[in-house]
Amino acid sequence: MKAALFHEDHTITVEDVPIPVAGAGEALLRVLECGVCGTDLRIQAGEFLARGYPVRAGHEIAGRVEAVGEGVAKVRVGDLVGVNPNAGCGACYWCLRGRPHLCPDMKAVSLDSPGGFAEYMTAPEAQTLVMPAGATVDAAAMLEPTSCCLHGIDVAEIMPGDPTVILGGGSIGLILLQLARHAGSAPMVVVEPREEKRALAMELGADAVIDPNGLDEVALRAKVDELTDGGAQVVIEASGNGRAAAAAMGLARRGATVLFFGVQDPALELPLKPFDIYHHEITIRGAFTNPLTDTRARAMLATGRVKVEKLISHRYALDDISAALDAVRKGETVKAMIVFEAAGGLLGGLR
Ligand SMILES: [Zn+2]
Ligand SMILES: [Zn+2]
Repeated sequence: MKAALFHEDHTITVEDVPIPVAGAGEALLRVLECGVCGTDLRIQAGEFLARGYPVRAGHEIAGRVEAVGEGVAKVRVGDLVGVNPNAGCGACYWCLRGRPHLCPDMKAVSLDSPGGFAEYMTAPEAQTLVMPAGATVDAAAMLEPTSCCLHGIDVAEIMPGDPTVILGGGSIGLILLQLARHAGSAPMVVVEPREEKRALAMELGADAVIDPNGLDEVALRAKVDELTDGGAQVVIEASGNGRAAAAAMGLARRGATVLFFGVQDPALELPLKPFDIYHHEITIRGAFTNPLTDTRARAMLATGRVKVEKLISHRYALDDISAALDAVRKGETVKAMIVFEAAGGLLGGLR
């Protein structure tokens, strides 16, 4: 089978490798689609988590079950499945307190075992989620990002009627937007520099969008104040952009929650005014990965409450994976997918 290998010198090659075999408790998946994520750029750049190169990346996986290993009972051959790539050890302080995403020994498909930029892969049964009848392949592939966004929404603790600002209208910002809408955010404002993403935000339920180009922090605050009648109750930084992170605190009203969701440069430092946090009772939160949110994300996707089809702006064959990562790096995509010929007819529509 063909698989993409990410090398230490930042190149990616597509090579012939053996088809894996499902071990006990595992499913063998024929990969139908696999999303390209910012994390993949970091793996390519060599800055992220990789335990040793070459890395078999790809963690936003839609697959068809081809075979199951010994003891597998809930996943059957032929099922359309999504994959939750992350699993805690099950035995540490955090795992035993319901926070497996903070496990120091968390294992991830695509880092600790081969991922989805390949024609076949294996996944543990407990991390292989059968999609209900009628669910799309795109929905299965977007299960992981949606489950991460759902954790962000849990942490943001939105109440119906909370004015909410989302910084960043990429695929993650646009999933957060849809989930925030269901949580009751009102009004919802998305700040996004690219025109086509602002248009998608309006289509997916934003009440207003702001183009931050040419706005300094004071001007941005003024716009948000006007649109939210005095500032956001919930501010979600979903861009990973340092300037957006710096602006986020300034958009909060008294008593607000500011959620840092986007993956920022680990070296970024921002000034903090402890007096303001005390006096205005500001809550600052982070949200990392997808603890115990995968089946809820599946329900939101399968019922169409979260729509992902319109977010997928680019589809590439596995052989073009380097071009796919380049496009993602340049911000040209909303969501780029690697699609496989085995998915049937999909390659005809490649852009
Ligand atoms: Zn991802
Ligand atoms: Zn653990």
